[in-house]
Formats: sequence, structure tokens, C-alpha cells
Amino acid sequence: MDNQVKHQRGVERDVIQQPAAAAAPFYLPQADEVEIFRAAYARRLPVMLKGPTGCGKTRFLEHMAHSLRRPLVTVACHEDLTSSDLVGRFLLQGDETVWQDGPLTRAVKEGAVCYLDEIVEARTDTTVVIHPLTDHRRQLPLDKKSRFIEAHDDFMLVISYNPGYQTALKDLKPSTKQRFVGINFDYPAEEIERRIVAGESGCRDEALIERLVAAGRRARALKEHGLEEATSTRALCYAAELIGAGLSPRVAARAAMVAPITDDPALVEALEEIFEAHL
Ligand code: ADP
Repeated sequence: MDNQVKHQRGVERDVIQQPAAAAAPFYLPQADEVEIFRAAYARRLPVMLKGPTGCGKTRFLEHMAHSLRRPLVTVACHEDLTSSDLVGRFLLQGDETVWQDGPLTRAVKEGAVCYLDEIVEARTDTTVVIHPLTDHRRQLPLDKKSRFIEAHDDFMLVISYNPGYQTALKDLKPSTKQRFVGINFDYPAEEIERRIVAGESGCRDEALIERLVAAGRRARALKEHGLEEATSTRALCYAAELIGAGLSPRVAARAAMVAPITDDPALVEALEEIFEAHL
């Protein structure tokens, strides 16, 4: 296969295009994020969703795109992702070279919400192409075609940013950050987290949900004691799903909340103690 074609197919694997007609994704607000997002969308301001992994940023955006009736184009950014992957490139087809739009260009043209998930992971040249999209110009530079395209009136750019992951070498420049409206996310309050876990898993046993969420929240606190990744709301939802599929609460908790995040014997023991006390 032609190298360029292979490359383009590669980035398509990182792109999810959510059909506008899908059923409304379940989302329980944590604070005033819905109001802030709606206000930003009303003025077409770009938004940065800040917060740890698995706390609901992606689900929130799926929910908002649906409620605003906009298609959502999600690009999972990674270290090999370049501006051409986002914008597009010329591909050889037989004897001809044909321009193929990348996911950002398609979103800009169609008036979709484009979500660049963890943009800090991508090559730095990607920030150059998003800058003119984030101010009054609302233009996307198609560098290799030496022209700009104007964004559709309904286009909106959203990025996610995990403050815990950045190092001095890998961070967004302040000049890039300040172009966005920031919305802070964190793991939800306990009562909300219970309702999320119940809603996602369909579990009706309130006492069990209460114990599971309490255990998850204690496990989360181990982040301060060396656990690399805090126990997420996603992991709690998985545990409840596994219980619903017939596993015992402790086995489910181990599979969802221990095995994926640590092999450290001392931390495993500490997590086991928490589960023994709660489940
Ligand atoms: P992030 O994008 O922050 O990594 P996600 O949005 O993928 O996290 O959330 C992980 C999972 O947690 C979701 O798939 C959903 O099951 C659940 N979840 C987290 N927060 C909420 C919420 N507020 N409402 C509904 N589901 C939520």
C-alpha cells in the first residue's frame, strides 16, 4: 500500500464520527458545565475541558453535541499525530494527486463539533493550525494548498487537557491555553457518582452501589500514596457492570479497579483491604 494512503488510514482509526441521530447519551452534570458550554457555543468560543481521565469529559461532550444537534468528530491525539493528519494531505491515486480532507477540515466545513482529545500529546505543529480557528478569524490554514478555509457558522473546537499529565517538556503554551474557555471537571461528588454508576450499569441495589462507590472513593485517595492513576468513575461503572454480569463484588472490584492500574504489591494489598472493608 502507498505510504501516504497507509498514513491516512492510520489517522482515520483515531477518529470517531458520532452520527447526529444517535440517542442522547446519559450525562449527569457535576456543576455549571452545561451552562458554560452552552454560552460558549452561543458565541462560538473554543472550549478546553480540563480534568483527570475517566471523569466524564468525553461523555459530557457527546451529550452536549447531541443536545445542540451537532455532529461530533473526535480525534484521539497521540505523539505521531501531525497537522497534516488533522487538516488533510495530497494522496497519490494512480497518476493523479488528490487532496483528501482530514477530520478537522471536514468538521470545519460541515459545522461539526471537533474534539481534539489530549491535544498536548500531538506534535507541536498541530497547535499552529488551530490558532487561527480559535479567534475572530475562524479560519483553517490548508498550508500545503496555500489557502485558508472559513469555518462553517456552527463549527466549534473543543480540546481536552489533563493537568496531572503535563511535564515541563510537554505542555500547551500559555499563548495557546488562553485562547480557550476552560471548564473544570473532577471526579463527581459522592451522591452524583452513585447515580452515575447506577445509571450506567442499570444496578438497582442502592446499598451495593453505596458500598462500591465508597470503596472506589477510598481507593482514589491512594493516588496521594503512589497510585499512578486514580480510581476513575469509569472504573466504578465497569465494576458495577461486572457485578451485574454475575461476578462477586470483590472479584469485580479487583478486575476493574486494581488489575488495570497497579502491580505494586503494597498498593494491591492496600486496595484489597479497602474492598474487604466495604464489599
Ligand atoms: P474522560 O473523557 O474524562 O476520560 P469519559 O467521559 O470517557 O471520561 O467517562 C468515562 C465513563 O464514566 C463514561 O463512559 C461514563 O460511563 C461514566 N461517566 C463519568 N462521568 C459521567 C457523568 N457525569 N454522567 C454519566 N456518565 C459518566
